[in-house]
Amino acid sequence: MKTLFAIAAMALTVVATHAQTYPNARTVTIVVPFAAGGPTDRVARDLAEALAKPLGTNIVVDNVAGAGSSIGTAKVARATPDGYTLLLNHIGMSTMPALYRKLPFNVETDFEYLGMINEVPMTLIGKPQLPANNFQELQTWIGQNKGKINLGNAGLGAASQLCGLLFQSAMKVEMTPVPYKGTAPAIADLMGGQIDLLCDQTTNTTGQITAKTVKAYAVTTSKRLTTPALKGLPTLAESGLKDFEVTIWHGLYAPKGTPPEVTKKINEALKAALKDPAFIKREEDLGAVVMADKRVEPADHKKFVAAEIAKWGPIIKAAGAYAD
Ligand code: ASP
Repeated sequence: MKTLFAIAAMALTVVATHAQTYPNARTVTIVVPFAAGGPTDRVARDLAEALAKPLGTNIVVDNVAGAGSSIGTAKVARATPDGYTLLLNHIGMSTMPALYRKLPFNVETDFEYLGMINEVPMTLIGKPQLPANNFQELQTWIGQNKGKINLGNAGLGAASQLCGLLFQSAMKVEMTPVPYKGTAPAIADLMGGQIDLLCDQTTNTTGQITAKTVKAYAVTTSKRLTTPALKGLPTLAESGLKDFEVTIWHGLYAPKGTPPEVTKKINEALKAALKDPAFIKREEDLGAVVMADKRVEPADHKKFVAAEIAKWGPIIKAAGAYAD
């Protein structure tokens, strides 16, 4: 019995010491559940740079893409809960529970919430060959091409899929979804003319819109954006799609069971990173708004995700989009 207690005490000391010294010069991996070069990846790589200093260690980004972010998210749910494997994901955390009949993780119980990072508008963009030069002309073109239009997305659970779903329902047209492992490959195909339309975060589209390598039709937020490259774009709501609004948000997560001392250190480092002027400027230039309200706190982050699950579930169910 005594030996058992001694072993248990030793184990506790090991965990406590580990938590005190975390990250102990070991590299932390942030899993991004979408392809490299896309908007989620962009946020993760910018954040990794800003977070490395306050966290006091190197951070690498690992792209584990596929199935609208559910593959990478599942990988982190199963990872050792020691603070060295984290997940950065977006609104998909709140839409996946309604989009998938079976998920290999529970968004609300399999993760420690570490705080939210930013909010990002989306834009509706088209291939450069489209004859439409504004949203009204696009509506006409869509009306003339019913049944022939391809709409790219990053899989069920992706922001692009959610936005596309809402767009089709608001327009009362069905388009053929073309899924990719992320919107980096989707936007490449859009520029090449292989797909017609894409809804994607400004963190991925601002450069292409500025370079005019894609056609930009509207933003998905309720108000026009102030970012210089995007401020001329109308909102979908003012263009006739009443109440249309999609804003994407990103948060940071650790596997359930990560010691509280470790999650506290990560949250403190995250809050410092979110105040880094270089990070803020980089995000603002791409139309994103760095989180500055109480949702940087884990409890408020978790409350917000629960509210988003309650908000999107009925909308997705009504749209009838599921995967097994
Ligand atoms: N964020 C994109 C989406 O959800 C995917 C990506 O980051 O590549 O559509």
